Amino acid sequence: MKSTMQDMSLTVASILRHVTTNHATRRVITYMGDGPARTATYGEMEERCARLANALRRVGVTDDDRVATMLWNNQEHLEAYAAVPSMGAILHTLNIRLSPAQLQFVANHAEDKVVIVDSSLIPLLAPVLPGLTTVRVVLVTGDGDISSLEGGDVTVLRYEEALAAESSVFSWVDPDERSAAGMCYTSGTTGDPKGVVYSHRSVFLHSMAACTGNALALEEADRVLPIVPMFHASAWGLPYASLMAGAELLMPDRYLQAAPLADMIQTHRPTKAGAVPTIWNDVLQYGAANPDVDLSSIDLVACGGAPVPQSLIQGFRDRFDVQIMQAWGMTETSPLATSGRPPAGTSLEDEMSFRKRQGRSICGVEMRLVDDDGLLVPRDDKSVGELEVRGPWVTGSYHRLDDDDKFRDGWLRTGDVGHISPDGFLTLTDRTKDVIKSGGEWISSVELENLIMANPDVSEAAVVAMPDPRWQETALAVVVPAPGREVTADQLRTWFTENCPQEIPRWWIPRNWAFVDQVPRTSVGKFDKKVLRAQHERGELT
Ligand code: ADP
Repeated sequence: MKSTMQDMSLTVASILRHVTTNHATRRVITYMGDGPARTATYGEMEERCARLANALRRVGVTDDDRVATMLWNNQEHLEAYAAVPSMGAILHTLNIRLSPAQLQFVANHAEDKVVIVDSSLIPLLAPVLPGLTTVRVVLVTGDGDISSLEGGDVTVLRYEEALAAESSVFSWVDPDERSAAGMCYTSGTTGDPKGVVYSHRSVFLHSMAACTGNALALEEADRVLPIVPMFHASAWGLPYASLMAGAELLMPDRYLQAAPLADMIQTHRPTKAGAVPTIWNDVLQYGAANPDVDLSSIDLVACGGAPVPQSLIQGFRDRFDVQIMQAWGMTETSPLATSGRPPAGTSLEDEMSFRKRQGRSICGVEMRLVDDDGLLVPRDDKSVGELEVRGPWVTGSYHRLDDDDKFRDGWLRTGDVGHISPDGFLTLTDRTKDVIKSGGEWISSVELENLIMANPDVSEAAVVAMPDPRWQETALAVVVPAPGREVTADQLRTWFTENCPQEIPRWWIPRNWAFVDQVPRTSVGKFDKKVLRAQHERGELT
């Protein structure tokens, strides 16, 4: 029997209509460093979105055309997020930290027609622009010099001038919900970046899921600070989810260091914020050195993109009285797939055993673990396997690429390894490309990192495999000492046997240690283990 329900497309335009009809006076606030913040209500923003859509139509953007962004997290980026899919075109967020060769590859592979660029990022775009074969128009936000973009075949326009010349009315488009709304490439730590194409339906459902109480629990009263870049898996979906909830957005623009982050949090008092662990670790160190720092407006810090060290969760609780909630996801999963809220009724003392894990799947996403032979691994919290996921906001393929290895029977193979408890809590122990196999047994780099970072003399630690003639591989720990502290390999080894909060097999304890000022980071701010392994091979880590 068919249902009697109406079949209305789930679209980005419907989110835009909803927020401007119901929450038009809520605002997007863009932090501007020493200058006053810029603000616009969602009602004002919609008019600017209409002008942007009209300007894009005027330069020839029609359905299916890709409009790329090279922007910080700010109002203009939000305008592109809202306007481009709502006019029927496709938003492609370019990762501004990719190498020039990767940027060129990604823009050509996606066949971008327009690039909206912040004038402070022109030095990144100008050298690659002649190699961008499909780009016809560049729109520049901000008032920096644009001369280095001019002189070729590409039309260069100032964003504000283009908007000023247009009507503030546009008839938003509701395409088939399964058609493309946006695209994002993986950060390409291994091989070329791969394109993931989000549909209107996946964006809508992901936003709804993000708003639910078990996930980020967004509501109108919230003010959300997405520190995670809008080019990194759509800032974890925070912009669209905030619009859906009518929550305000506090945009950090280019001010991503601990001091301005602390300032913007104190001044603008967001209630929720999301960033990768390395950023929150910087904020924690800054808070340790500056007793006045106050993050008390925040009721939820979302953290993910990489394993969240227990010491960071504890540090935020002790220093700021703020709870970190871990979430797991990938560009391929839109990205929210799990959330690490402790189960109902968990006491404060027991919470940590849940917060340090990656959490339970958000309704809509299903998880399973599979062993090397493709057999299902039981959910007994011990048996380890590769995580596979499926769901309406999980990609089923890559854009213009056959990569059958990444998919099995309709499931995405995540490349993450871990175990799941009978009540559904996922714990990741490694990534398949980072695992350490020593004497035929696995060492969990994630667990070792967690324990080393529990030592108060340590600020950051990354553990990678290094070749070993006897054990095939052993662990190499790369450590950043806490500010003003000194620590040696012997002290850390002894600490493992005498003071470590958790017992581990003796043979896990790294024999090799290196001390550095900063662990190299990927284009999205995670520990770059590929670079660490290469540095070790070149004998640069001692
Ligand atoms: P990249 O694969 O280039 O790092 P993504 O941002 O899509 O780009 O990263 C997804 C990966 O990040 C996951 O497969 C996983 O390895 C890691 N990750 C994300 N969240 C977590 C988390 N909470 N704990 C551990 N690893 C995580």
